Amino acid sequence: MLEYLRPDLYVRSLLRIPLEELSRRGIRGLIIDLDNTVTEWNRLALDLEVQEWFCRLSSYNLKACLLSNNRRKRVHIIGQCLGIPALSKAGKPRAAAFYRAMEVLGTRPEETAVIGDQLFTDVLGGKRLGLYTILAVPLDKREFIGTRFIRLLERVVLKWLALGKPL
Ligand SMILES: [Mg+2]
Repeated sequence: MLEYLRPDLYVRSLLRIPLEELSRRGIRGLIIDLDNTVTEWNRLALDLEVQEWFCRLSSYNLKACLLSNNRRKRVHIIGQCLGIPALSKAGKPRAAAFYRAMEVLGTRPEETAVIGDQLFTDVLGGKRLGLYTILAVPLDKREFIGTRFIRLLERVVLKWLALGKPL
């Protein structure tokens, strides 16, 4: 069970992901969480470095799709700003959420990576389907009340996993 929660890569931020290495591994599609991964929870603005990061993806032959459990409007506005597809109210970690995103990306599981800040939604959902999973340190402490509760459990599991320092 614990192995379903172990990310393949642990990074301090989206910006630290070694894109060239992903590309070399045959990854073509990125399923990316929104809240506390791309921008702070319920924030609408995007940092310039983050926008630039999304612009760089195509030079590594990577496509991206936002996949969020958050409500529709904001997820879609940010997707439009970044010029990428966005799926809201996804119901992660359900498999259907990730299959939908892969359909949008046109990629198979072995060509797809998931990037997110939560073990029990992003990592668990991705691992179950055999996707390459990347856990990012959350951008901010502020979050949905339900998430804050889950973080308590997450902290225990993170200790068990002994991932070491994020990249
Ligand atoms: Mg998140």
